[in-house]
Amino acid sequence: MYNMMSVEDKEIKAVHITDLEKLLQKYEQSDDFNNGQIKCHICSDTVSMNNVGSIQLLDNRLRLTCNKIACYDQIVKQSISINSP
Ligand SMILES: [Zn+2]
Repeated sequence: MYNMMSVEDKEIKAVHITDLEKLLQKYEQSDDFNNGQIKCHICSDTVSMNNVGSIQLLDNRLRLTCNKIACYDQIVKQSISINSP
């Protein structure tokens, strides 16, 4: 169970980081991110390239979380309801 979650986490992160800089620029949050102004939506830790866990788009703003398992877990639970067809 724990291993499965780790693998999923890495795959999701790899996809997201590829596009993260572009997304931050598109939504004009690049400066905030570089200045350490972007906080984890769940635990309010500063999110950087080193610890970004997930990215969601909500009301034309990027909502980032860090890569703690607890935060990732919260986002997965929320994403299931958001992304359900
Ligand atoms: Zn967090």
